[in-house]
Amino acid sequence: MKEIFQLFKLTLREKRRLFLTFFCTTFVAFFTYVFVNLIQPIMDDMFQLAPQDMPQKTRLMDFVFQNLNITKEQLAVALPLILLVVIFGKGFFTFLSSFFMRSIGHKIVKKIRDDLYERLIYQSADFYDSIPTGELMSRLTSDVDKIQEAVSGSMGDFIRELFTLFALFIAIFFIDWRLALASFIIAPLALVPLMAFSRQLKKKGLLNQIKMAKIFNLLHETITGNKIVKAFTMEKFEIKKFFKATLSYFKTSLKLAWIGSLSSPFMEFMGGILGAFILVVGTKRIAQGHISAGDFGSFLMAIFLMYNPIKRLSRANNRIQQGVACYERIQELMGRESQIKDHPKSYPLPAIKGAVKFENVYFSYNESRPVLYDVNFEVKPGETIALVGLSGAGKTTIINLLSRFYESTSGRITIDGIDIREVTLVSLRSRIGLVTQDLILFNDSVKNNISYGHEDLSLDKVIEAAKAAKADDFIMGFPKGYETQIGEKGKLLSSGQRQRLAIARAILKDPPILILDEATSALDSESERLIQLALKNLMKDRTTFVIAHRLSTIMKADRILVIDRGRVVESGNHKELCKKDGIYKKLYELQFPEEKEIEP
Ligand code: ADP
Ligand code: MG
Repeated sequence: MKEIFQLFKLTLREKRRLFLTFFCTTFVAFFTYVFVNLIQPIMDDMFQLAPQDMPQKTRLMDFVFQNLNITKEQLAVALPLILLVVIFGKGFFTFLSSFFMRSIGHKIVKKIRDDLYERLIYQSADFYDSIPTGELMSRLTSDVDKIQEAVSGSMGDFIRELFTLFALFIAIFFIDWRLALASFIIAPLALVPLMAFSRQLKKKGLLNQIKMAKIFNLLHETITGNKIVKAFTMEKFEIKKFFKATLSYFKTSLKLAWIGSLSSPFMEFMGGILGAFILVVGTKRIAQGHISAGDFGSFLMAIFLMYNPIKRLSRANNRIQQGVACYERIQELMGRESQIKDHPKSYPLPAIKGAVKFENVYFSYNESRPVLYDVNFEVKPGETIALVGLSGAGKTTIINLLSRFYESTSGRITIDGIDIREVTLVSLRSRIGLVTQDLILFNDSVKNNISYGHEDLSLDKVIEAAKAAKADDFIMGFPKGYETQIGEKGKLLSSGQRQRLAIARAILKDPPILILDEATSALDSESERLIQLALKNLMKDRTTFVIAHRLSTIMKADRILVIDRGRVVESGNHKELCKKDGIYKKLYELQFPEEKEIEP
């Protein structure tokens, strides 16, 4: 019941349509009521089943006939006509109410999906660390669909069937309240199992949802990581994992099917018991002259018509419960506040020179293990700083903090003396250009990928940037030039080409602070040479952080910070550090044995 109110509250957002639904539904109930009462004159008057000495009751149809001045002789023509009108009316208003309710469902769902997407896209990086992509996808697709089903179909059914049931109740009590009461004494016989069925369906339905999300997740991982699966020849393993997940889904689906298939015949059987009982009592009532055969006909028709609404109500109830369960899961996502966001006092970062300072910065991704300890360093405007260290030392983490993808646990990071936590995220990130190892490119044209974030830029500007990034040559080599589609995550390009596009993007952004995170890793020497040229263009007059494995890049840096297990352990230029005979020297010997021989 609680769920139905929750869903109903949701539909209240569409007051006008909801009102129209209720309005039309009232007519559906009204026509149902009239329909039931039509049986009586059809049997009593047309078929002349009524005994002449029947006690005079006030009946709905007698009242109607009197007002329409229809005599008993005209009934043979009038009754079929009235029947047609009533059935048409019922159908017409059913159509309208159903349409209005469906449109409410679609409107609500559009809003929920939009809200959720808006919420998600502003979430901070730790949020995405904690929830698998497949799960988010299933929230936005199948969960939202479930809500739509619940509102469009089930909520509409619910309102309509409830109204109809109400009308039918009134009808049977008016026809013969004693017979009606007698029928209700054994009604629980049918209602209790119905409730049990619906509870089971809800439980299993929820379980099914969770299992589907798991399948989604597996799909997502293996489709996007298809190459890795192949490279490690893990097909069999992944297939096994997938089969296990689908088997588990299949098992709960079977249970659902079992309950679903059983519920209808079982309910029918219960209805049969009820029907037999009414027949026995009803025949007695007719024999005693309390009601006519026609009254009993109407009564039976009403009971018969109740069957569908009750069944639909229980089904609607299931779907509503499912829909609400999905809604709650979505609400839970919506309720998650982004860890990193602007506060009321945030102000835009003014024009900066690009001095960066880390003061006693500590950080951990999760409480269990600190990743950065007491990081201190200072960078002057326009300087190039190289971060070196073993993989996993915390280099990427340091620059993640600078862009505020994550928030430092303690300590302070300043740009031109301004604490980055005090300024708006948009203004901060617009001053930082990022060229990373996992270049994020979108399935769009080359032009739009370069101008991402500056949609209104002219093609000339884009070409200029591409030329500076040494990307123009290969782009013009494509048949469609700048309009070439680059595929999902740029998979139709080579990694060197992707990196040059990312550099062109950074050139176009023209930020005072630039971060190159292994931007030149895994390149052949020709691409490397071109990219070095491109980078030289890009790094001019900017504060630049480079995380690189290439000695040439590192040696050109004004200063090198050596990071070891989350600490800055050494700092200085190449010569100074080599003299020191510390970690840098070891790293250098380890990483560049062959280059060392060439270098003086
Ligand atoms: P580097 O860039 O120097 O190779 P990172 O800064 O990426 O290293 O990683 C530093 C440490 O933090 C590693 O031990 C890594 O396992 C951990 N780490 C990196 N990213 C995350 C994350 N999103 N959640 C939890 N731990 C992370
Ligand atoms: Mg890294």
